[in-house]
Amino acid sequence: MLTQKDLLNTLKRIDGKGYGAYKDLQGQYQFDNYILFIDHVQSDPFAPPSRIRIRVDNLIASIPLELFSTKVRKIALEDYFTRQIANAIKKNNTRISGTGKSGLIAILPCAQEILERTSVVICEKYIEARISVGLPARGRTVMAKEAEKLFFTELPQIVNRSMLFKNIDGEKAKRQVELAEDQEYLRKKLEDSGIVAFIGNGSILPRESGVSDRPLKGKEVVPFESPKELEVCFELPNRGKIKGMAIKKGVTLIVGGGYHGKSTLLKAIERGIYNHIEGDGREFVITCESAVKIRAEDGRFIQNVDISPFINNLPGKQDTRHFSTQNASGSTSQAANIIEAVEAGCRLLLLDEDTSATNFMIRDARMQRLVHKDKEPITPFIDRVRQFHRELDISTIVVIGGSGDYFDVADTVILMDEYRPREVTAQAKKIAKEIATNREKEFTGNLSLSIQRIPLAESFEIKARKEKVKSKGTMSIVYGYNEIDLQSVEQLVDSSQTAAIALMMQYIKKKNLADGRTPLKDILVQVYEEISQKRLDIISPFYGQHPGDYSMPRIQEVFAAINRLSTLKIVHREGSQS
Ligand code: ADP
Ligand code: MG
Repeated sequence: MLTQKDLLNTLKRIDGKGYGAYKDLQGQYQFDNYILFIDHVQSDPFAPPSRIRIRVDNLIASIPLELFSTKVRKIALEDYFTRQIANAIKKNNTRISGTGKSGLIAILPCAQEILERTSVVICEKYIEARISVGLPARGRTVMAKEAEKLFFTELPQIVNRSMLFKNIDGEKAKRQVELAEDQEYLRKKLEDSGIVAFIGNGSILPRESGVSDRPLKGKEVVPFESPKELEVCFELPNRGKIKGMAIKKGVTLIVGGGYHGKSTLLKAIERGIYNHIEGDGREFVITCESAVKIRAEDGRFIQNVDISPFINNLPGKQDTRHFSTQNASGSTSQAANIIEAVEAGCRLLLLDEDTSATNFMIRDARMQRLVHKDKEPITPFIDRVRQFHRELDISTIVVIGGSGDYFDVADTVILMDEYRPREVTAQAKKIAKEIATNREKEFTGNLSLSIQRIPLAESFEIKARKEKVKSKGTMSIVYGYNEIDLQSVEQLVDSSQTAAIALMMQYIKKKNLADGRTPLKDILVQVYEEISQKRLDIISPFYGQHPGDYSMPRIQEVFAAINRLSTLKIVHREGSQS
């Protein structure tokens, strides 16, 4: 191990030299309170920044063991420290000059979700932060004095303020850990109670704007309040009693006039698969962890999906048990999204009329009369939704303000009235009796969704000359010459998750996990198994060093990305899905 003095000496030696001389800094240095690892040095001041780690021994950091004694606690605490370090970086006011990214210090930025991340590691022995820095230069010339400020003034201050337990808000850290623990506990508890979603009383559901995920603030905000008929109470390990609205298994409609808060409620439920930080407003909006938002996505790529439960007799006699297209229609894309979600283990489908294909959702009696079944390839969702529940134990929550035909198939109807939910099931059933729809049921036979989809090895081959795989923001992955569009994968929320998905795809390729015999589901289960045994770090090519800035996606979103990879080649095998 090198010393601080060695670092100073090297800096002195390379001062004024070409930027490449910074490579000499790579190594490990013992500082007074921590070890500095310089893992990767950027190639020039404009290139992606250099990657360093700072490791503080827990004899010095003194982080209480009970704050990371279980997996959920550890994830929450690591997430908390990531936020603390980001704050300390923001507050720091040492000025470092230079070209390009000179003087930059950064850690993975966190949004409203508490996620498993690669940015901070906490274990009994130490806390380690994975940080990016821009090594200072004038033009392409090393500025050693500025680099010295970065390593000997700025970083020690940041470490001191944000990585030593005595200097952070320990109570707040404890609250985040206990909050995440309560959220996780409630999610398990719901499952045992036959509840697919829970919205705590007092929750704030609306967001600041379409682009901001922070809570809407102001007098006009109506906090959520459960109707008495749907209210349940749980006892949480840390918080104690919590009351709120329970949505049970089965088929639930959210109805109501336009602009009364239907989509806002569904959006909150969609995001209830994640744990949220204190103050978010959705801390106790908790949803079944495998819930998938289903929407129409015309133009999407589909590879060998059995959409026959919904689509049959397409013009041109396309086989819908093996349906592929470069350019799906609204209804075929929505059908494929459901079948793929089921394959990915989904137990709760979430649909909103705003983002659904009308002809996929409903066909009323008059249209049935005019367009004969032989000429209509689509079996609308209304005729399958009960079967999903009965035969596959998959529940549905659907926002529908435009068609009362759904009253016939609902177990529960919730009416949103000026952002306040009311339970109107009996009323809706009464209306359904009084005004018959005269629809004819259109389905035939059971839902058989037992096909396993097996990707061939060639699916993951990268034909581009340079093996380029990377994410662009949250909504896109570049895979060789192909770009995967994730705009419609609405439960993917953080660009660091998308970055992790890109790496997982590369990991599958590198380890030859797609061998032409293993179903996609099993491949991903294996990847997640390996991650849970070690850390998310293992998907990075820089395992053992600064792995990069990643957060854990759900398996459902990884599925979604792979299913949209246009080089995907799938064969089917009959069998039962586990
Ligand atoms: P719908 O789907 O019923 O047409 P939305 O859910 O899109 O309605 O909500 C309409 C508007 O009302 C949105 O701008 C949303 O931010 C706002 N809103 C939703 N819920 C609340 C609430 N509880 N308090 C205040 N404003 C809300
Ligand atoms: Mg809406």
